[in-house]
Amino acid sequence: MTGDAQPTQHPDAILIGGGIINATLATMLRIAEPDWNIVVLERLTDVGLESSDAWNNAGTGHSALCELNYTPRGADGTVNISKAESVAEGFFVSRQFWSSLVDKGWLRDPAQFISAVPHCSLTFGEDGVQFLKERHAALERHPLFQGMQFSSDHEQIKQWIPLVTENRDAAQPMAATFSSAGTDVNFGALTRQMFAGLGDSLDLRTGVAVTKLKRLANGRWGVMVRDENTRAKSVLTAPFVFVGAGGGSLPLLQKSGIPEAKGYGGFPVSGQFLRCTNPDIIAKHSSKVYGQPAVGAPPMSDPHLDTRVIDGEKALLFGPYAGFSPKFLKTGSLLDLPLSVLPNNLKSMLGVGANNMPLTQYLIKQVAQSHADRVQALRKFIPDARDEDWELLHAGQRVQVIAPDQRKGGVLQFGTQIISAADGSLAGLLGASPGASVAAKAMLDVLQDCFGDRFEQWAPALREFIPHLGASLAQDHAAAAEVVAHSERSLGLTA
Ligand SMILES: Cc1cc2nc3c(=O)[nH]c(=O)nc-3n(C[C@H](O)[C@H](O)[C@H](O)COP(=O)(O)OP(=O)(O)OC[C@H]3O[C@@H](n4cnc5c(N)ncnc54)[C@H](O)[C@@H]3O)c2cc1C
Repeated sequence: MTGDAQPTQHPDAILIGGGIINATLATMLRIAEPDWNIVVLERLTDVGLESSDAWNNAGTGHSALCELNYTPRGADGTVNISKAESVAEGFFVSRQFWSSLVDKGWLRDPAQFISAVPHCSLTFGEDGVQFLKERHAALERHPLFQGMQFSSDHEQIKQWIPLVTENRDAAQPMAATFSSAGTDVNFGALTRQMFAGLGDSLDLRTGVAVTKLKRLANGRWGVMVRDENTRAKSVLTAPFVFVGAGGGSLPLLQKSGIPEAKGYGGFPVSGQFLRCTNPDIIAKHSSKVYGQPAVGAPPMSDPHLDTRVIDGEKALLFGPYAGFSPKFLKTGSLLDLPLSVLPNNLKSMLGVGANNMPLTQYLIKQVAQSHADRVQALRKFIPDARDEDWELLHAGQRVQVIAPDQRKGGVLQFGTQIISAADGSLAGLLGASPGASVAAKAMLDVLQDCFGDRFEQWAPALREFIPHLGASLAQDHAAAAEVVAHSERSLGLTA
């Protein structure tokens, strides 16, 4: 708990989990209801240490400038940019929010959590070149993607991403796009700054795990809490609870007993990256380069070569590779997956198992890889990569959502999903992607879903922090240009 105040056992809202999602929701609730007593409960010793920690995710500010899985070919063969538009719009809600928080002094130091790092896409072969050319043509005049350049000329690509062209056969068909508008985000640092910005106006308790959720006769939720040091148990109650516990959300939603969570399951995939240990190679590369995923690979596994900026230091990562662990959190338990299988979601889990053979085969191949195999995959990006310049980094767990489906029993979803009780008294977020980048949009959706009419009353206060709240930047070119320019200035992203 922060400050000397006595702990409140009956607050107005309880947020479970101290990652970027609840840092965002707590800040929005503070703006909307300055007098509310809000409690945040986090089981680890500090906030932002699980998936939101910089080394546990790829830190890409997902704005669809480079991620090829957001622009698939549609049934008519043309490149479909609708997903790219919605991801970019979501990211620009976050950028509006973060830049207002900086302008108003709620966030202290943007250089600690966001850096300008160009975003590139990279494709190979005649088909790949053609696809990227069409993708670029579909995006280049769009207000959210302006300034993106395309080339299939090795000399030009060398100017953008020299490591990729070094020692490469000049006859190999290859294309790249380059956007200087990309970012690298340290979501752990951002989480800590957001909570620090709320200071004593928030009752933040670390080292406490929520073990149970129970609907009480008076309509409030009873939240059972265990102190991770002393094992002492206590109970808090609130009329609104949000489960923003990352991988820990599914078990808690299951325990809540709300019918809306029935049938849902989760499948954990561990994220791994190669981290470069050679400072000369790290110095030669300064962008995020996303390629095309392997056959059968899930959408979030586009291979990427990533410049990161963490605690003021430049780093270079390549991945992701998939590993398997039944844990739902990196710091979770080996029993997480088995204990999540219940009579009400067995059909969904079996349905997904039976209908996703290419994914299963992909995961088995990934898990069986040696260090040499991983570096061999990297050579597609850096032809002369050496085994000894790279080490394996274990990142966070993604718990992919398994949703009930009438026809197939269950379907695997690769995005995020908000589950909320019909009366809006409890909600939670499942899934991980594009997750942290669109946290502000996701939490606005939660407020709208759970608080209905009250959201309209809150809109003016929220608009002070998100000026284009509810507007489509994809439709309003002038507003999009203004948001880009303003957030670049406030977040220190201009050269
Ligand atoms: C490998 C990988 C790469 C990724 N790359 C990107 C990327 O490039 N860009 C991007 O935008 N997103 C990325 N993501 C997704 C992003 O990391 C997540 O969406 C985001 O961090 C989720 O934030 P969160 O607050 O929901 O979860 P977390 O940061 O995991 O926070 C949840 C918190 O809840 C706590 N908790 C859990 N159970 C309990 C309990 N019972 N009681 C109390 N506390 C509890 C946990 O300790 C944790 O601190 C990536 C994720 C992974 C795994």
